[in-house]
Amino acid sequence: MNFKDLVKEQLYEGKGKKIFSTTNPDLIIAEFKDDLTAFNAQKKGNEDGKGALNCQITSLLFELLEKNGIQTHFKECLDSNHILCQKVEIIPIEVVVRNVATGSLSKRLGIQDGLELPFVLVEFYYKNDTLNDPIITDEHCKILGITQNQDDLEFLKTQARKINSILKDFFIARKLRLIDFKLEFGKLNDGSIILADEISPDSCRFWDKDSDQKLDKDVFRQDLGNVKVAYEEVLKRILSQQN
Ligand code: UDP
Repeated sequence: MNFKDLVKEQLYEGKGKKIFSTTNPDLIIAEFKDDLTAFNAQKKGNEDGKGALNCQITSLLFELLEKNGIQTHFKECLDSNHILCQKVEIIPIEVVVRNVATGSLSKRLGIQDGLELPFVLVEFYYKNDTLNDPIITDEHCKILGITQNQDDLEFLKTQARKINSILKDFFIARKLRLIDFKLEFGKLNDGSIILADEISPDSCRFWDKDSDQKLDKDVFRQDLGNVKVAYEEVLKRILSQQN
């Protein structure tokens, strides 16, 4: 299948992706953009080829997760920067999984940057740019009407931990430490919840196992070098065979 034959109209444009409807009402196409944003879009940039790298990385990681029993919205990679996905209603929670303290966790709680956490931390953030994506509790999710169902929230946490365990093992075998990452989930018509959105160096932090060199969007956030070179290195490691 190819993009041109399937695509109908643009439904939405976000910071990193455009979403299109398709000739099949149950399927959408996600287009990965070259734009880079950080600090709630206060810092903006563009890197030629970044979208294509994230498209390939997301496709490979969703395939890996599917192989390991995680249901995702991913159907197939159509071309260099488009993927075909099941249409879901996105749950407005950013599920953040952390193995190591850094970023907003270190800042908010004064925890030393780089400290290995004693257990895997799963946090919920309310997906709302106007409010700056605030951290929320289970009760906040219910007050906000995101869900009234505690089982749904427990499912998000369980899936997030399973995904962390699969990805962490996969990356450490490729000499990358998975520091933290953000997931988004969506609901199908029958109420079931599946993994959606993307998994890429835009949404994860990867540190080289030996040097702790950052190979993710922090390169852009903190002006640490060439973003494309870092993302290419992540793709290269994903494609490398483990010994
Ligand atoms: N993250 C993301 N989108 C967001 C916020 C965070 O993809 O809107 C990812 C981020 O790349 C990191 C993890 O979630 O891998 C934790 O981010 P953190 O809360 O430390 O926020 P930041 O330091 O990026 O402000």
